[in-house]
Amino acid sequence: MKQAARVRSLKGELTEKVLRGDVRGLVASLNSIIKSGKDKKKAALIPFLCDLAKATDMSDAMTGHGSNGMKWHKASKKIFAYMKVKGKGGLIRFLRKTLGSASDERIQAQWAEDKVRLEMGGHMGNYVAIGGIYGGLMKALGIVGPVPYELEEDESHLNGKVAFDSHRDTPVGTCGINSSNHQCNANHNHLPLGSTVGAYHRIIKFGVEEKRACYIRVVVVTPLHPLLPALPVVIHPTCLKFDCDWVLKSWERNYAFCRGALASSLGPVPQGSGSDGAPALFAAMKKRMNVKAGSGRFSVDAPGLVLTGKLVDVDGVKYVTDLHMQDPRHCFALLFGNFLDNSSRDAWIGKYPASISDYRATASLAEQSGDSHGAIKRHLDRSDAQNKTAPSVLVALRMMQCMEKAVGGDYGPKQPFEGTLAYSRLLSRFLLIFFGQKQAVSERAKHAGFFVGMLRRMRWHIKKTPGLTLTANFIPLQTYEHSIYAAQVAVLKFKAQKEFHPRHPMHVEKSGSDKVEHTFSEMRGFGKVLNNQQDCNAMEARERLETLVTLFKYEAEDNGLNFEGETRATQRDLMIHLHENEADADADPSQLCDEATLSANWIAGDDEAKVEAERLGMKPSVYEEWWDKPYLLEEEDLVEMEEADRADSSGDGGGGGGGGEEADDDASDDEGTEIGNAEGSDLAHLLTSVVAPPQRRTKTNPLVAVPEALGGGHVFKSTLINEFNSSNSKLSSDRISRIRASTSAIADVEAAQLAQAAAKASGGSVAAGPGDQPGAAPAAGAASVAANANDPTTTTDATEAEGAEEAGAREELDAANEIRVGSDVAFAMLEGSVASPRYVVWIGRVSRVFKGKKQHRYPVVIDSSLPPDICLVCEWYSATGDRLKFHFREVIDRMKYSLLHFIGLVRIDLVTASSSSSSSSSSSSNKRELYSITQEQRSALDEALKMTTPVKRGSDVTVGEKKRKQESKEQERKEDEERMQRPRTDFGGRKGGREGTRAGAAVGGGGGDDDDDDGW
Ligand SMILES: [Zn+2]
Repeated sequence: MKQAARVRSLKGELTEKVLRGDVRGLVASLNSIIKSGKDKKKAALIPFLCDLAKATDMSDAMTGHGSNGMKWHKASKKIFAYMKVKGKGGLIRFLRKTLGSASDERIQAQWAEDKVRLEMGGHMGNYVAIGGIYGGLMKALGIVGPVPYELEEDESHLNGKVAFDSHRDTPVGTCGINSSNHQCNANHNHLPLGSTVGAYHRIIKFGVEEKRACYIRVVVVTPLHPLLPALPVVIHPTCLKFDCDWVLKSWERNYAFCRGALASSLGPVPQGSGSDGAPALFAAMKKRMNVKAGSGRFSVDAPGLVLTGKLVDVDGVKYVTDLHMQDPRHCFALLFGNFLDNSSRDAWIGKYPASISDYRATASLAEQSGDSHGAIKRHLDRSDAQNKTAPSVLVALRMMQCMEKAVGGDYGPKQPFEGTLAYSRLLSRFLLIFFGQKQAVSERAKHAGFFVGMLRRMRWHIKKTPGLTLTANFIPLQTYEHSIYAAQVAVLKFKAQKEFHPRHPMHVEKSGSDKVEHTFSEMRGFGKVLNNQQDCNAMEARERLETLVTLFKYEAEDNGLNFEGETRATQRDLMIHLHENEADADADPSQLCDEATLSANWIAGDDEAKVEAERLGMKPSVYEEWWDKPYLLEEEDLVEMEEADRADSSGDGGGGGGGGEEADDDASDDEGTEIGNAEGSDLAHLLTSVVAPPQRRTKTNPLVAVPEALGGGHVFKSTLINEFNSSNSKLSSDRISRIRASTSAIADVEAAQLAQAAAKASGGSVAAGPGDQPGAAPAAGAASVAANANDPTTTTDATEAEGAEEAGAREELDAANEIRVGSDVAFAMLEGSVASPRYVVWIGRVSRVFKGKKQHRYPVVIDSSLPPDICLVCEWYSATGDRLKFHFREVIDRMKYSLLHFIGLVRIDLVTASSSSSSSSSSSSNKRELYSITQEQRSALDEALKMTTPVKRGSDVTVGEKKRKQESKEQERKEDEERMQRPRTDFGGRKGGREGTRAGAAVGGGGGDDDDDDGW
């Protein structure tokens, strides 16, 4: 019996016993696991089970609560953090309910501690972080380096908003100083801002003088190994102003980092870069892959395989590099679209025309005969020209079989589809070079020889045939160049695998730019879910990539956690299985080929191309040298094609995206469709649930000093920087003043924190464990933040406290920029009689938010201009004799007030509930609760109000204030005139006796004499 039980998996056994409530059996199993040493292999298992048991033990049997004070093992917290990130909100709630898991704060804290941080630009630190992850993964998977890897790079569009990175205390979102000869600075970073007036000026300079970046460039380390993930290592905003030399320099830098940081894991030398055809990048590749014969050259000795790599020596060991790949998927889509589906080209292959319409004709013929061709209407229509799935289905085996029947007369009269059929075969074999599952390395080399030989002969034939030209009847220059390159590089990589990585399986599938595009789609994907918008800014993009990397870091840690890497993409868009016979056995990718074999197969492929070309009528009647050596004069032809393309480029609106062929293809193709896929949206959804705190409050001050000339005081850097997203000019004092009012509220939180921390420190060692606080007042975030502030007494849990503090800080920072239900806000309201109106501050707690007539259930961001269509319904704090004290809910007014009256967020705290018990709920005495704001905040509100108060005789504005205001008015006019809008003229009124009408307009209209004076 016992023997039999042991055979079952650990997990199954434990699960079953838990389900049966077999506690004694469970204990026995645990003992047995520990005795056998299996717990060492599953290091996370025992601590996790123990934590769960302990949590249950500590919890209150009736309420299920009470395990809050418990200390969880690190492994357990990581498990929960992982589930929080990956497991949809429901999973973690389920666990907390049924098992009693660690509190959200601790999970968050663990996450904050573990999170991988990426510096913007190319930095050694990023490479070191990635190197550590690869090291861990390789150790866990038993993979010994060096592993071949590429640095794949691409750019993707962003919303171009600037932002404040409080973790690093810098502004983000630009790529250097704006000038007429601007070139992007990948490492355009700012020194930490600090909080002086100097920092204020630097922020203004940042907003006014620097180049706004609307793209993000990402470099992804992509191991050409089936088990190792691709990880982003360079990320920075860019406006796409960079050229070939810039690219080469960037590579030099990045490759040097690899040598420094990846030597002990993947290896010191990347095999090359990968891209999707961006001109600057391709130019750089071309430059590097042309090594003259000699000791440093890496090549395959085969006719027409003209590209080379480079051999380098690191500490006496040879490596190959400069094997740069053009993305084969991308090439494939262009080969199809730019030839078969391009209205401006008349495609010929030998003596046969070729066109996408042949597929449609074949499909209907096949359907009439009851044959299956595998394509659906969407594929045949090719409404989405960027989509790669449709071409891949159309040139697959079944469609070709039907087309053969059509050509052969099986469907009635013989159809003239020979050209399209031959081109389909060519493209199918191109795919097999890279993606075929049943293709041995030797066969891949043969496909490459065939493809290159065939395409080159097509070129020659068209050039030599009167009436046909390379511009009108052939594929465009770049499509030709990139695909010919890709096929050759593949064979060079086959050789490199045998010579430098003989113990690793051949895995060329990931070569190119697919991984970086996939990274973009993940990045963008959860942006879509999160903000209901398609894009994000540079800071958010980085934030999300850091999340991705961190998940892999968990997996790489040697702590027994194993999450299975489900984010690893497979070939999603290409239907490669349709290109191979299902019955064939999969090829063994560890069967590598030496150079002689590769060369022989390349030649065999070229011979097949010769036969095929002759069949299609390309062979010249009198022998010409190009027939045997189609690679001759290639460069010369390319120059000619380029010139022709350039002259021709205007009129090319063809389906395949002919003219601007590389420009937009990648940016939208997979990403758009993929989000709809289960895979994409799932991942998107999962990752959205992360609320990882990006900043460490303890290290940076979120405030910056405002110059005295603008009123002095402090404002939030993030809010200040965000102002530049609505205007590129300097800020008016009106706006500064509003920012200041909101800022003041949060500054008070900090003061409260410090005070509490100090009190705690002096109060001795009362160990109130983090997470143990009694349920605080509604203004909760602050209280919990304060209680969790660095407390010297809770040393064991210091990191948690810090992390929790971060979470709290993040909340506070968010709160500084957002109005949501529950926010405390200040409005400027018009009161008094028509004859002598005056403006007063009213503070309210938001109970409803309306956008237009509809309820709005999202936070309203108030960073930039106030949205005029947003209205708030509030519960009001009413004034008392003390200007700092207020009563709550004594005045009922359910009117909607426009956000245009808003002057700032307020922090208002409960001072005394007049009943005796401190923890009483509101029910016991809700009548005379007293709330208070600080003097500083009062001043800030008064200041903000003054900016909106008309200066009139008889008003309570002092001369000094008036003078100061006149000064600021001067400055204002000078700085920017068009910003003088908003809340001055038509404040909604709020009369002393709550009539609740939009009295503002009425009063303002009636007392027209007042409103004419703008108050400036
Ligand atoms: Zn730039």
